Amino acid sequence: MSIQNGHTKHLNVAVVGGGLVGSLEALFLARRGHRVSLYEYREDIRKTPHVRGRSINLALSVRGRRALRDVGLEDIMIKEHGIPMRARMIHRPDGSTYSIPYDTRTNQCIYSVGRNYLNAVLLKESENYKNVTRHFNHKLLEANLPKGELKFVKMDTKETVSVDADLIVGTDGAFSAVRRAMLKQPLFDFSQQYIEHGYLELCIPPNCQGGFQMPPNYLHIWPRGNFMMIALPNQDCSWTVTLFMPFKNFKGIDSESKLLEFFEKYFPDSIPLIGEKKLIDDYFGGSPSPLITIKCRPYHVSDKAIIIGDAAHAVVPFYGQGMNAGFEDCTILNNLFQKHKDDLTQILAEFSNTRWQDAFAICDLAMYNYIEMRDLVTRPSYRIRKALDDLIYWISPDLWVPLYNSVTFSTMPYSQCVKNRQWQNKVLAIIIFAAGVFAFILLCWARR
Ligand SMILES: Cc1cc2nc3c(=O)[nH]c(=O)nc-3n(C[C@H](O)[C@H](O)[C@H](O)COP(=O)(O)OP(=O)(O)OC[C@H]3O[C@@H](n4cnc5c(N)ncnc54)[C@H](O)[C@@H]3O)c2cc1C
Repeated sequence: MSIQNGHTKHLNVAVVGGGLVGSLEALFLARRGHRVSLYEYREDIRKTPHVRGRSINLALSVRGRRALRDVGLEDIMIKEHGIPMRARMIHRPDGSTYSIPYDTRTNQCIYSVGRNYLNAVLLKESENYKNVTRHFNHKLLEANLPKGELKFVKMDTKETVSVDADLIVGTDGAFSAVRRAMLKQPLFDFSQQYIEHGYLELCIPPNCQGGFQMPPNYLHIWPRGNFMMIALPNQDCSWTVTLFMPFKNFKGIDSESKLLEFFEKYFPDSIPLIGEKKLIDDYFGGSPSPLITIKCRPYHVSDKAIIIGDAAHAVVPFYGQGMNAGFEDCTILNNLFQKHKDDLTQILAEFSNTRWQDAFAICDLAMYNYIEMRDLVTRPSYRIRKALDDLIYWISPDLWVPLYNSVTFSTMPYSQCVKNRQWQNKVLAIIIFAAGVFAFILLCWARR
C-alpha cells in the first residue's frame, strides 16, 4: 500500500521477467497486498523442458535461503529438494581426490537445487495469491519508465499489449529490456564485460541401480589452471557437469578424437562416469555459452521503476551468488517497503543509493573466485591460508570470519566481506613478518 492524501492505496505493480528473482519478488509484493502482474517472455516453465544455455542446477546459500524463508518456502526447497554440499571435492589429473570442507567450525553447507524446480515452486506459490496474475509469452518491447508505460508483444498471437503501472520492477535478466530503457535516463552508468571463458554443460547419469556415481554431498571440482570442470548433484542422482574454458580452447576441440584425447589428459576419471558416447553427444550437441558481468547504477527511475537481480548486477557464476544476490535484493526491497511504509520515492532511492556497493563487490568477488577455483585451490599457499583462516575463525568466530564463509554463510553486506578480507590480509602479513623476524633472531641467537 502507499499513502496518498491520507488514504492507503494498493499499487499496480508490473514485474517484467518471471525467472527466479521476478517470481520471488512477485510473492513479496503480493504479501504486502499490492496487485502484481508478472510478465514473462517464455512459456510457463512448468510446461516446458529445460532450455540449454541456462544452468540446470544452482547452489543456494544463506542469502537466498533467508529470502525463501520470508515467503515461507525455505523448508520445502531445503528439506525436500535441496542436496547438501558440505565440501569441495578436488579431482587431481591422476583421478585421485581430496576434500576441502566449506565450514569446519559450524558445518554449514550449500544446497544444490534445480533451477526449473525452484522457479516452478515460486510460480505455484504465486497461485495462492489472488492479487497475482501471470502472463506468459509476453515479451517487453518498449518502456516509458517515467510514465510507467510498457508495451509487450504476445509471442503466440503477435498481438501487442499496453500496460500502465504504478511501479515497474525489471527482473528480466542480464540482457534486460527494462535496463535498456533506463539507459536513456541522464546520469545512468552502465558497463558490461564478457570474460574470455565460456561454459558448456555435460551430464553424469545415475548408475545402473539409479544411484549417484560419485559421493553426492560435495561440489566436485577438476581444477586445471586456466580452465576447470565442476559437477553439482541433481535429485534424480545425475550430475550436471559444467566445463569452463577459454572459447579458443573449445574451438580447438573440433573432432571426437580431440575431445577424448583432451578428457583423457585432463579429466580421465570423468570419462567412465559420463560415458564416451554421451560425452561426445553432449559436447558436440551444444555450444559454449558466454559469461558476462554487468554493473550499472542507479537502479531506479523516480518513483516508477526499479531493476533487481541479474538485470541490475549480472555476475559470473563462480561464487554461486548470482541468484542468491538477486534473492537478497528482494529481501532488502521488502525491508525498505516496511521501513518507508510503501513510499516509493524513498524506497527506490534508498535501494539505489545503498545496494550498488554490494552489487559491485559481488561482481568483483565472483571474478576472483574463478581464479581460486580453477587454479589457487590446488596450491599449497591456498591450503595454508585456508587452514590459518579456519583456525583463527575457530578461536575467534566473532572477530575473524573467512571471506568464503562471510559471503556464503552470512548476510554480511558483500562490500563488508571484502573490507574484512583486506584487514585480515594485513594482519596475516604482519603476523608472518613478525614470525619471520622472530625466527631470524632465534637463529642468530642460537649461532652465537
Ligand atoms: C552456468 C551458471 C551457473 C550459475 N550458478 C549459480 C549458482 O550456483 N548460484 C547462484 O546463486 N547463481 C548462479 N547463477 C546465476 C543465476 O543463474 C542468476 O543470477 C539468476 O538466474 C538471476 O535470476 P533473474 O531472475 O534475475 O534473471 P533470469 O534467471 O535470467 O530471469 C530473467 C527472466 O526474464 C525473462 N525475460 C527476459 N527478457 C524479457 C523481456 N523482454 N520481456 C519479458 N521477459 C523477459 C527471461 O525469459 C527470464 O525468465 C549461475 C549462472 C550461470 C550462467
